[in-house]
Amino acid sequence: MPIDDDNALVICGLDGVLALLEHRLHHLYNEQGERDWSAFHAACDEDMANLDLIARLNHARDQGSRVILISGRSEAVRPQTLAWLERWHIGYDALWLRPARDFRPADEYKAAIIQQHYPGQGIRRVYESARRLEVARWCEAQGIPCTLVGSNQGNGESREQITLKVVHHSCRHTMLHPFYGDDDFAWDERAIQLAATPCALCQAQQREQEQQQRFIRARRQAEEMGLVPLEGSDRQVAWAETIRLDAWGAIERVRRWVEQVDAQAREEDPDYWYSVRQGIEQAIDWLAGQQEAKWWIDHRHGMRNNLESGKAMLASIASEQGYI
Ligand SMILES: [Zn+2]
Repeated sequence: MPIDDDNALVICGLDGVLALLEHRLHHLYNEQGERDWSAFHAACDEDMANLDLIARLNHARDQGSRVILISGRSEAVRPQTLAWLERWHIGYDALWLRPARDFRPADEYKAAIIQQHYPGQGIRRVYESARRLEVARWCEAQGIPCTLVGSNQGNGESREQITLKVVHHSCRHTMLHPFYGDDDFAWDERAIQLAATPCALCQAQQREQEQQQRFIRARRQAEEMGLVPLEGSDRQVAWAETIRLDAWGAIERVRRWVEQVDAQAREEDPDYWYSVRQGIEQAIDWLAGQQEAKWWIDHRHGMRNNLESGKAMLASIASEQGYI
């Protein structure tokens, strides 16, 4: 796809890109853990506009590019969206909103619109929210330049002043970071801090690589310890393997503890201590045979690598299984 073509398309998202939505994120992320998507979408007409980005889009249009807005926002809020675009004087050539009951991931949804409606047309740039890294990955795979827009770095209490800072990150990728609020004294400093870190996409890739390495280490150790292979999806198995490794670290601690207190405990109450040791060994055997990745994931909170967790975990399995 030619990118030096002035007539090429500029694709831009709405939520977290052109429309700054921090004020309504509490509909999705809250203490109750409830995700109210319709309330989240319905509050969109209160969004602050990303003014610097609007200027960039208008400039691209002046140069002959077509600006295509593709949003995962629901078709149900088209009237509010149209009014909002008009209120902020945002020029565009098409607006795509997500049809009802379309639950595809953002990258699939956006790629399908581009492939169906703009086949073979050059794309000059895609502007996407850093919350939608799957879209950035799709762009990377297609060789399409993509600029990520981060979340508000200012205090956001008032939305009177907004600056869009261009940050060149340590990985050499560039991101746009909006700053807004009523307290701008530390904004330059914050931008320097951001520049010292990798961009959102590279950070995510780094995290995934680290996870993958943890999984490979955990699997190798599990093999060495003679543990059964886990069953489940690749993702579940990778996650469960690291949980099981922590559990096994705790089991080792419990075994060392048993050795340390053995002589004294046997002297104090031999029958009781015998049944405790028996319960521990049976619980360990039971865990050693637990192949279901999902079981490990469901029980992850009790699987910390320390003596107290180990004791609590074995005691609860021993009692659940009727060993003690
Ligand atoms: Zn990067």
